[in-house]
Amino acid sequence: LEEQLRQAQKMEAVGQLAGGVAHDFNNILQVISGYGSILKLDERLDDRQQEEIDHILSAAEKAAQLTRGLLAFSRKQVITLSPVNLNDIVENVRKFLARIIGEDIHLKTTPSEAPLYVMADLGQLEQVLFNLATNARDAMPRGGVLAIETGSQVVESPLDQESGLLRPGSYAVLTVTDTGCGMSAETCKRIFEPFYTTKEISKGTGLGMAIVYGIVKQHNGFINVYSEPGHGTTFRIHLPIYHAERVRDQESAKQAAPPRG
Ligand code: ADP
Repeated sequence: LEEQLRQAQKMEAVGQLAGGVAHDFNNILQVISGYGSILKLDERLDDRQQEEIDHILSAAEKAAQLTRGLLAFSRKQVITLSPVNLNDIVENVRKFLARIIGEDIHLKTTPSEAPLYVMADLGQLEQVLFNLATNARDAMPRGGVLAIETGSQVVESPLDQESGLLRPGSYAVLTVTDTGCGMSAETCKRIFEPFYTTKEISKGTGLGMAIVYGIVKQHNGFINVYSEPGHGTTFRIHLPIYHAERVRDQESAKQAAPPRG
């Protein structure tokens, strides 16, 4: 528990620091790519010089991508919460995720029988699924299965072993499993740290999971990772259930009494 609290504090501090740096850095990058683009228009440049400028521009673009990710992680983004059915979100991004992971990876979704309402920002939860799917793809270069499952769990003790820092209550559970390369215990421990990556520089920024962590925290949720090198990885996200009964009552009331006018 202490370890998890320390981790949360560290993420908070790193987030604040990174946000400040990213903002200033972004301005500098705009100068680099702006003047680079102007320079490229100069007709006196030969092919080699053109190519060299292209290198500068693509490095600047890569850096801009990095700072955008950092800003997304650190900024206390204004999230717009509304009751959403987790099963609908998964269904809505299904096609998009299938395109990301490609044809060699089979996408299997198993929605819970009952609707699972959570108070959430739709765009942010889609971002979570997108980041998890991207990592799953990278972990399965020779294909495999990406399984997304939803369900619910009642947490009784605040120190539920499986769920870490959860408060007692009812939770929607989103489980994302891949049959990829898995990761070491060391990577498992550091996976949510900003900039932690095992990928080569052109592939990873180390921000994807830090962003996921930030979003889940903002939703008062919790994320766990289980992994076995060579076998695959499971991410489990707990989000507080939003008065399921009340939503259901409203829905059945709507069906029973068609809107007037
Ligand atoms: P990036 O993907 O840019 O490296 P992330 O924060 O998304 O950054 O992930 C950090 C690291 O966690 C990755 O470099 C990888 O080592 C590990 N990782 C994340 N997801 C998976 C996964 N599904 N399977 C194996 N390793 C993973």
